[in-house]
Amino acid sequence: THFGYKTVNKAEKQARVADVFTSVAKKYDIMNDLMSFGIHRLWKRYAISLSGVRSGQHVLDIAGGTGDLAKVFSREVGRNGHVVLSDINAAMLEVGRERLINAGCNNVDFVLANAETLAPFDDESFDLVTISFGLRNVTDKDAALKAMYRVLKPGGRLLILEFSKPVFEPLSKAYDLYSFTALPLMGKIIANDSESYKYLAESIRMHPDQQTLKQMMQQAGFENCDYHNLTAGIVAVHRGFKA
Ligand code: SAM
Repeated sequence: THFGYKTVNKAEKQARVADVFTSVAKKYDIMNDLMSFGIHRLWKRYAISLSGVRSGQHVLDIAGGTGDLAKVFSREVGRNGHVVLSDINAAMLEVGRERLINAGCNNVDFVLANAETLAPFDDESFDLVTISFGLRNVTDKDAALKAMYRVLKPGGRLLILEFSKPVFEPLSKAYDLYSFTALPLMGKIIANDSESYKYLAESIRMHPDQQTLKQMMQQAGFENCDYHNLTAGIVAVHRGFKA
């Protein structure tokens, strides 16, 4: 156990993830900016630049939350394209829906879905599937990767933006210290919710490192997998293709 968290079973983890995001939904965007000093915007911009998204394409953003990626994809795919913003959490999806509708994104649909099954979506229906800061919350990551593979068209690509393992030890230590002290403190002050942000720090620590995630993608069937470290590996973008 780390920092008072016991190992939890699958149902408990899913329930906890649901509580966390229902609790933070309204404050989610401002917390993101504060906790990452605004850098999450750069990370997302860079990930989008690696996505290869083109006009007319069909894009699925999984665990899309308040819609940062979907909003950009909506513009990039244009009138003939289509974007689905999807999340397991109704409160997060509602914030995203309101935000994108206000921004005039009229080629976006909003669909509740669990990343582990992606049940609402047909096989081979998307050119691009993305998941940004979402995979670490998913309990069965192998099942999720297989589901992503299933809904991609042949030739389609998967893009994963997620916290990863810092490339050198002192940074790793400093970063741990930041996540386990400053994050819950900011969560307490701004969202009056330190537990949720403690959970977030924990989920970052437990997430597979760069090589492990790449291997998991290969096991799910993805080809030509690669990754790019950002901010010295605090975050990484993984890519894989369906042949
Ligand atoms: N993609 C957005 C971004 O980059 O700002 C939101 C990321 S937020 C940290 C994580 C999101 O994952 C939350 O909206 C949460 O509801 C969602 N999530 C957690 N578990 C999920 C699951 N099993 N399937 C789909 N979404 C899930």
